[in-house]
Amino acid sequence: IIYLDNNATTRMADEVIQAVSEALVIYGNASSMHGFGRDAAAAIEQARHQVASLIDCDPSEVVFTSGASEANNTVFNIFRDKIDLGSKRNRIVTTTIEHPSIIETVKFLKSRGYLVDEVPVDKTGRVDLATLKTYLGEDVALVSVMTGNNETGTIQPIEEITKLVHAVGAYMHTDATQAIGKIPVSMKDWDVDYMSLSGHKFYGPKGIGVLAVKKKVPFETFIHGGHQEGGKRAGTYNTPSIVGIGVAAELAEKNLESESKHLWHLREMLRLGIVQTIPNVVVNGNQEHCLPGTLDVSFPSAEGESILLYLDLDGIEVSTGSACASGSLEPSYVLLASGVDIELAHGSIRFSFGHYNTEDDVKYVLQKLPPIIKRLRELSTR
Ligand code: PLP
Repeated sequence: IIYLDNNATTRMADEVIQAVSEALVIYGNASSMHGFGRDAAAAIEQARHQVASLIDCDPSEVVFTSGASEANNTVFNIFRDKIDLGSKRNRIVTTTIEHPSIIETVKFLKSRGYLVDEVPVDKTGRVDLATLKTYLGEDVALVSVMTGNNETGTIQPIEEITKLVHAVGAYMHTDATQAIGKIPVSMKDWDVDYMSLSGHKFYGPKGIGVLAVKKKVPFETFIHGGHQEGGKRAGTYNTPSIVGIGVAAELAEKNLESESKHLWHLREMLRLGIVQTIPNVVVNGNQEHCLPGTLDVSFPSAEGESILLYLDLDGIEVSTGSACASGSLEPSYVLLASGVDIELAHGSIRFSFGHYNTEDDVKYVLQKLPPIIKRLRELSTR
């Protein structure tokens, strides 16, 4: 199997599997004061340091969650609880291309009367700073812009955006889930107030993530109960998964440069191969500011789902931009929001590379893909 769906999830690194297996034996409750408890607590604190080092923040700013969806929801919920609808600073600003864990949260908040603006992006999926500025004012409480898009790979200028956000006295959140381990990510340099990430996107376990919260920014306990996570999120620690995300973070930090080069090389090899062998294709997203392992391509007159299924028959696993929602096949909202034509949005395929991919994988795709597109295009013109 050629697995080219690493933005959906990644295979756990061998080192992570090893560490998680060992941590399964540390069965003490990290809140217990005896030796077993202290062993678990020490393993968790080590993981907290490993994550903090990766995203360049203080370990005390790391809150473990069940994943990035929980982290994203939590940031919006903190502000929902803080915002008095009648007050002057009562607006949240985000973009049209965020992950569904934000898009759906925004829909919910709007249905409850909260004021949320979604800033449009340009044709490459990038937030234009001048456009963003028109949405910012003294009435804005929170701005949330993702670091890199899961579908197109487009990277946003988070540092510049944060400066604009802080200039009007608002707080800044970024969902860095897709950027981790692919580009340098720094809470300190970017000066963001909140950051979300997820273990399973960088060779760690599923069901574990982080919400990093800068000191002295608004925060509410979001699960009430015991005193875990400094009283922010109650519940017995998931020691094995926390240890796993810690080891994954250490690997991501250590391998960042080589990994980034490796992913970009494979991505570019596939992009060039596709544009040279298949006529009439459109590469989506921003080609200058792009996550190194992501390649999103539209094949006009060929349906995304059909391409995906034919590739699957050949043992190649990719994803389409469209989501199968309530039985209907919907075009990618990310591409539509970027002003991409509906037919192109329907026929998009996302190839996302990871650590374990090789040049041979790309060669195999370049051998299988052109005849599939040719066949589907012939069928569509019949
Ligand atoms: N944010 C982005 C950009 C993602 O790509 C994903 C994963 O699909 C998430 C959030 C959700 O992460 P999790 O699966 O940990 O809830």
